[in-house]
Amino acid sequence: MQIDLSGRAALVTGGTRGIGREIAATLARCGARVAVAARDQARAEEAARAIGNGACGFATDVANTGEVTRLVEEVEQAFGALDILVNNAGVTRDNVLFRLKDDDWDAVLDTNLRGPFAAIRAAARGMMKRRWGRIINITSVVGLTGNKGQANYAASKAGLIGLTKSVAKELASRNVLANAIAPGFIETDMTAAMTPEAQRELAAQIPLGRLGTPGDIAALAAFLASEHAAYITGQVFVVDGGMVM
Ligand code: NDP
Repeated sequence: MQIDLSGRAALVTGGTRGIGREIAATLARCGARVAVAARDQARAEEAARAIGNGACGFATDVANTGEVTRLVEEVEQAFGALDILVNNAGVTRDNVLFRLKDDDWDAVLDTNLRGPFAAIRAAARGMMKRRWGRIINITSVVGLTGNKGQANYAASKAGLIGLTKSVAKELASRNVLANAIAPGFIETDMTAAMTPEAQRELAAQIPLGRLGTPGDIAALAAFLASEHAAYITGQVFVVDGGMVM
């Protein structure tokens, strides 16, 4: 089975590092033209150059609704359309409940949940008009299970699942599909802060015996973006080496 995304235009938020960068590179290898957006302009441009196939880099803070709306318009102008939206940009600001500040709550919810909402709202119009669209939201297993010290992050990721299912229902009649991917522990900057000891302990709790790689997530994202996934919408796909089952 080959995944052919030629002729498609994609936007990957947070596409400069980790999971997002691998998703962007994989979509480009499958033939899509890809826009990557992150806060740092130089890193966005560097990632676009490395990804190739006409990729573009944009400096955008997804926590800012106006910037997100402008980003979608700019991508539509640059590529003539936006067919595949991957809401990947995400942050953590972990702390136990009583130490979580309002700011920690707002920063995480604004980036991880309001950002995807604003991007979907802006991108859906064109997708509906063209009767073709793929929305892929990167949530997390902790959005399903909750996690100590991550009330803000888990709430944002659980909210993203509700958002995914709601827009899947609203947009299905126009052939715009929305799905979520819930990674477990993936080797990126986000998990690099853990000590090797903590990483070993964690791997021991994962049936497949290792942390995931960005490629493990990107392969599913490319499939969901393709024609092969034409009958799948409103689903949450857990990719975690069997950790949560
Ligand atoms: P990284 O921290 O490695 O990368 C995050 C990316 O998002 C960077 O490109 C960063 O670029 C961008 N970003 C962060 N904040 C913003 C913002 N406000 N506006 C625009 N871009 C932003 O993260 P991962 O690759 O590890 O994670 C990617 C997604 O996967 C996240 O949503 C995360 O919650 C989720 N996830 C990750 C897991 C893991 O184990 N790694 C597990 C489960 C889910 P810049 O800083 O330049 O803005």
